[in-house]
Amino acid sequence: MLTLEEFAGKIRQSGDIVVFTGAGISTESGIPDFRSPGGIWTRYRPVTFQEYMSSETARIEAWKRRLDGWEQHKNAKPNVGHYFVQSLDAKGKLIGLITQNVDGLHSEAGLPDDKIVELHGTNRKIICLECGRSYDPDAIIKRLVGDFASPKCDACSGILKSATVSFGQAMPEAAMRRAQEWTEQAEIFIVMGSSLQVQPAASFPVVAKRNGALLAIINREPTPLDDYADFVHQGAIGEFCGRFGEMIADG
Ligand code: NAD
Ligand code: ZN
Repeated sequence: MLTLEEFAGKIRQSGDIVVFTGAGISTESGIPDFRSPGGIWTRYRPVTFQEYMSSETARIEAWKRRLDGWEQHKNAKPNVGHYFVQSLDAKGKLIGLITQNVDGLHSEAGLPDDKIVELHGTNRKIICLECGRSYDPDAIIKRLVGDFASPKCDACSGILKSATVSFGQAMPEAAMRRAQEWTEQAEIFIVMGSSLQVQPAASFPVVAKRNGALLAIINREPTPLDDYADFVHQGAIGEFCGRFGEMIADG
């Protein structure tokens, strides 16, 4: 296991870093994760893609959940963790960022789109599953008042859905391919704020390590891959990145 100073040294020397993030990097921006107490799973059951397509009741349930978290999502701002990842890119050290998050906060922190793979899509966009037309969420969500019906496409009356990947829906192929390529190129692979309990999330760090990358995990709780990693910090991302950002500043 590397010490903090040794890990900082590796980061200072490397130009081939891949960062992999989960819901934990956005909790300090006020967006709850899934599995912590008070997380989304404790209040809503997930609606599968098949249910969404076949049942109006399921669609309404999904939109109610969306409505519930909307203000929180809309007002969320990037935090120290998102800016830390952006700073690695500004230093020319980042191959790319792979995220399971759908909140768009990495992009809002200034990381360019071509450096971001969103494995689970984005909730900053709503799309028509029939004709592919895309909508601004604000406009659609404003329509959801009272005893609402699920929103339909203005152009073709098709079913609208946030551009996120639901359970039962295929992973986006291009995104998966890109994430795989970056992972294979990584000299250092850093996991931040993911429980690493869900596939394919948990497979990327394993692939990186098998390809000779140094594996680092920064997460509040232990993960199943901690024993496999070269550096583990168990604690809050904001506090860690604040300190660590300074340690690598002159690198
Ligand atoms: P997860 O909820 O399974 O795990 C999050 C991990 O982050 C936990 O282990 C927790 O201990 C840790 N954590 C929480 N706050 C932290 C902090 N401040 N510092 C350090 N660690 C912290 O989330 P996951 O691994 O991303 O998987 C769940 C799925 O939920 C993902 O597929 C994602 O698409 C989705 N999701 C996304 C968002 C978002 O976009 N912000 C929010 C909730 C869920
Ligand atoms: Zn349409």
